[in-house]
Amino acid sequence: MRYGALEGGGTKMAAAVLEGNRIGERVQFPTRTPGETLPELAAWFRERKIGALGIASFGPVDLDTASPTYGYITSTPNIPWQMCDILGYFRRELGVPCAFDTDVNAAALSEWRLGAARGADPMLYVTVGTGIGGGAVINGRLLHGAMHPEWGHILIAPHPEDPMPEGNCPFHRGCLEGLASGPAMQKRWGMPAGELPDDHPGWEMEAYYLAQLCVAALMTLSVRKIVLGGGVMGHRALYEKVRVQTEKLLGGYLTSPNVRDMEKLIVPPALWPDSGLVGAALLTEQDERITLG
Ligand code: ZN
Repeated sequence: MRYGALEGGGTKMAAAVLEGNRIGERVQFPTRTPGETLPELAAWFRERKIGALGIASFGPVDLDTASPTYGYITSTPNIPWQMCDILGYFRRELGVPCAFDTDVNAAALSEWRLGAARGADPMLYVTVGTGIGGGAVINGRLLHGAMHPEWGHILIAPHPEDPMPEGNCPFHRGCLEGLASGPAMQKRWGMPAGELPDDHPGWEMEAYYLAQLCVAALMTLSVRKIVLGGGVMGHRALYEKVRVQTEKLLGGYLTSPNVRDMEKLIVPPALWPDSGLVGAALLTEQDERITLG
């Protein structure tokens, strides 16, 4: 059977056909309105005669199967996509089983199954870019629960020398995303993160914020692996800074040999930039809620 994969992002929609675990044919459409973009995608998948589709969507999304709006994109600031029934649309249009989850859960799944976190359970995947989001695999399943985890919005302590300690999240101001996303860095330093020189203090500050995330993941989920992806992590020197800061913040408290080697604990994704797209296809195997349209 040919599996279709859709990674729905705020600016672009990536679609692919997977053959085995390999991406075969692929295409990308700009994210315009649902009325414009969804039919393009459906037509592309229809021509390729896929047998099942995995949808990994930007969020927030409703993942509660008992909810009347299960499979919808919900309170996104991207207005035309608010309350868009993306899962229902593809079920109806394609008439094949469709699995559904967040883009970051899909990325977590692929990195756990095939990438940088193979064999590491529990694991956490976090993307640091325009926004910050994360997904976790625990006991071989993606963590869902009451909603879906919102790693980008955990509350953290501002750095004592942060010139913008109030943060820019419209909901919480100084949450992780409000302090450490690409746009927060740009607002703080007056230039895009990618243009900050290597020795700029902004990188140490960013590491301090991401280290708080890593500490939270260790202390709550007892993770064996933390995969950090996304545009901001394109600055490769940041990994070592995050490891050093994490060790510092832990203060020697965790003594298990499982979490002593920071180099093995905090790692880049292996499937980047396709973690989400590959994960979307894998959802079709993992999602027990998959149903025929
Ligand atoms: Zn927030």
